Amino acid sequence: MKAPDLIDFHNHFNFLPGWINSLTETFLGNQNSLDFLLGQLSHTGQKMVIGHALYAMPWYRDGLGEVLRYVKLLEQLGHETKNEIKIIKTKEDLYSEYKIGIVLHIESARWFYSDLTTLDRLQQSGVFGIIPIHYLSNWFGGSCDDVFSKFTCNTYQKDLTDQGKKLLDRMMKLKMWLDVSHMNDRTLRSSLEHFDGAVVASHIGLRKVINVDRNLGAESIDLINQKKGMIGVCAWSRITGKEHAQLKQMIDHLLDKKMEDQIFIGSDFGPPIHTAHGVKNIFNFFDVIKSVVGQEIAKKVSVTNALKFYEQALPD
Ligand SMILES: [Zn+2]
Repeated sequence: MKAPDLIDFHNHFNFLPGWINSLTETFLGNQNSLDFLLGQLSHTGQKMVIGHALYAMPWYRDGLGEVLRYVKLLEQLGHETKNEIKIIKTKEDLYSEYKIGIVLHIESARWFYSDLTTLDRLQQSGVFGIIPIHYLSNWFGGSCDDVFSKFTCNTYQKDLTDQGKKLLDRMMKLKMWLDVSHMNDRTLRSSLEHFDGAVVASHIGLRKVINVDRNLGAESIDLINQKKGMIGVCAWSRITGKEHAQLKQMIDHLLDKKMEDQIFIGSDFGPPIHTAHGVKNIFNFFDVIKSVVGQEIAKKVSVTNALKFYEQALPD
C-alpha cells in the first residue's frame, strides 16, 4: 500500500465553525476547504495526511462532548466520501486507501478542568497528541501570550502546575505525544524535564529570525533537540515571516543544529492567518519549502520526517 505523499502536521482545515472559514477565505483568500484539497489531490494523484487540531470553542460548556461530537462528524464524512477522507488511528491506516488522512490531536486542555479521565476518553476516540496550552494560561501551566506576563515583560511566567504534571504522567502512560506550542519558556522547560515521551512543537517559528514570544528561543530549541523532538514550521507570517527568506533562515538554523530529520510542516491553515506572499494554500507552502531548501531537504520536511514520527507514535 502506498505511503502518503505529503504531511501537514498541524492545521484546522475547513473544520472550524463556518463563519471562521468564510472569514479566512473571503478576506485573506486562503484556500482551506476540503473540496479544494480533494480537487488538488485528485488532480495530482497524491494522498495527504493532515494533523487536525480539534478545538472546543471557549463558549462551549461541555468541551469533551463537543470534541467527541466533532469526531463523529468526521467519521460520518469518511463514510459519505467512501473513505476519501479517513481518520488515521493506527500505523497501518497511514498506508491504507484515502485522499486525506486525518490524525487527531487537541489544541488547549483548558476545558479538561484537570479531569484526567478526559485523556482516556480522547485516546479511545483516536486522539493521540495534546497541546495543553493555548492563548491563555490555564490549570496546566503558562501561555507565551499570557497578558500578565506581557505586562511584567516576562519577568513573571506561570510554571507547570502539579495538576499539569499529573496530566503529563497520564499522557506517558497512554503513549500520547506532547506538543509544546503556545507554552511560555518556563512551562516548556519544566514540561520537558518531567515528560519522557514523544515531543513536538508543531506550528511555530524561531526567535532568532522573528523575535516574538510565540517562537522558540535558543534554550527551548536545544531542550527539544535533546529529546529528539520535532519542530513544525508554520505558514503564519506573524511567526515565520512575510518573506520566504525568513522561513529559509529558520530551516537553515535547524539544519545547522543537525536537526534535518526533526523538521516538518505545521501550517496552521484554517484560522484567519496572514501568510507570506503567494502562499494561499498548503500546496503553495510545500512549493515554497522546496524552493528555499531544495528537493532533498524539502522531501524530509514535507513528508518523510512526519511519517517516521507517526510510525513511532501511533498504535499498531
Ligand atoms: Zn495554535
